[in-house]
Amino acid sequence: MDELSDAEGFIVSDIQFKRRGYTMRHLKLLITGAAFAVAAPVAGQGLMDKVEAEVNSMEKFTQVMVDKIFSFSELGQQEFETSGYITRILEENGWEIDRGSAGIPTAWFARWGTGAPVIALGSDIDGIPKANQKPGVAWHDPIVPGAPGHGEGHNSGQAVNVTAALALQKVMMEEEIQGTLVLWPGVAEEQLGSKAWFVRDGYFDDIDAVIFTHVGNNLGVTWGATSGTGLVSVEFSFQGESAHSAGSPWRARSSLDAVELMNVGWNFRREHLHPNQRSHYVITIGGDQPNVVPQVASVWYYIREMDFDDIQRNYDIAKRMAEGAALMTNTEMSYQVRGAAAPRHFNKVIAEAMWKHIEHVGLPQWSEDDQALAKAVQMVVEADSAPGLATKLEEIGAPKEDPNDRRSGGSDDIGDISWTVPTVTLRFPSNIPGLQGHHWSNAIAMATPIAHKGATAGARVLARTALELFTDPTLVTKARAYFTDVQNKGQSYQPFITADDPPPIDLNTDIMAVFRPQLEEYYFDETRYDTYLEQLGITYPMLRPDREEEDH
Ligand SMILES: [Zn+2]
Repeated sequence: MDELSDAEGFIVSDIQFKRRGYTMRHLKLLITGAAFAVAAPVAGQGLMDKVEAEVNSMEKFTQVMVDKIFSFSELGQQEFETSGYITRILEENGWEIDRGSAGIPTAWFARWGTGAPVIALGSDIDGIPKANQKPGVAWHDPIVPGAPGHGEGHNSGQAVNVTAALALQKVMMEEEIQGTLVLWPGVAEEQLGSKAWFVRDGYFDDIDAVIFTHVGNNLGVTWGATSGTGLVSVEFSFQGESAHSAGSPWRARSSLDAVELMNVGWNFRREHLHPNQRSHYVITIGGDQPNVVPQVASVWYYIREMDFDDIQRNYDIAKRMAEGAALMTNTEMSYQVRGAAAPRHFNKVIAEAMWKHIEHVGLPQWSEDDQALAKAVQMVVEADSAPGLATKLEEIGAPKEDPNDRRSGGSDDIGDISWTVPTVTLRFPSNIPGLQGHHWSNAIAMATPIAHKGATAGARVLARTALELFTDPTLVTKARAYFTDVQNKGQSYQPFITADDPPPIDLNTDIMAVFRPQLEEYYFDETRYDTYLEQLGITYPMLRPDREEEDH
């Protein structure tokens, strides 16, 4: 009965069609796709082609989801519109939704299907502070000045996953393929603030494989220990005593002094840490006004290194330094873990299976307009060169011969999942190469045909790879063997959160309280406009500011 109601759910009603952003054109495409599917052979490559045709027929659906999440512009732990929008679509299609997963209000785990294998598809959903930007415009031009925006491109990954998942659902029902799909979001990835908690609370315990998707500027996948780092995100707080800063300063104990001394200490010590480390801090509480000695102050650190032991060593150094700062100022120190990310290790078996599908799908056909926009943005941000968008696949990513050749850099809490379940990350080409990251320029492509085509290409690879995992049980077994016998040989997962650390659900509350009302006016309305570019009145692409306007 479940399957029957799922089937009814998929043949969506008019209202659902409108809610899901379908048009009549899409309805025709769906029917064409179905006709094609019936004619296709029902085995191996034929099944792959069938699910890929299904993805292609959902281009409009994918575009609407990319644009819609872009317009929400939500920061980590505040992704309420985004999560509500995605889970409603899944629920309408017969998926079971667990909301508020791991005590995180914007998290959810959606399930459809029966039995093994259980394949989970994840992608991040949060934005970047102050990265608000009009899409398709090659210079800094925010929709809402100062507001958050998708200056990382996390608006595109769930469009890839949900498209692939609904295509898979349809094919699995029609072909009676057994297995369970699980969809989930990376909440607050920019603060490494959810995936370690999902792992700790058992959300990946019954899962056989995870395919994570992340925006990139080429279609690719990597296996083994990757470049980049893991980290601990930790906030140190100092408690002192206040007094009049001029009248009786000798009666005060300054918590701000402790923060500053800790930072000075860390900045000296930095020279004697291994060059692979990356660490940075912001002062989150620095007092109220100069004539009141700050009673409470806090500083938030990201402490990054490339392997578990090195992260732990630097974390211990930071804790001792905080204790030292407290001693120097006669204040009390406490700390709270706010996020964590394990170094990433991706599964060779799944990556190699995926690579065949990447070669099959290839890169999207970019238009002259797409390339012109990419080159214009590359010039504006002074990229090393301005080659435009990727037109050639790279090689499959593999570990360096010498592990010391791995490059340091950023982190992603998918690392924690990669040490729990055989995992890969599919990178799909929805953004422009050569940008600096975490910046308004990284938002420019993210609601344009570049992002839309990249997301469809990603969904095609994802659907094909997942279908292979469902239909070839040996692949899941081999992936597990690599995980156990190669990846976990000689080392294993060390979580940096304890059983008691709460998820950092208070993050970004204040910022979103200010900007959400302003952003709401610009949410994408797919019932009135074909694209978000159209809603914003942007003639794609806009390569330079209007000269006439500039003269006034
Ligand atoms: Zn990201």
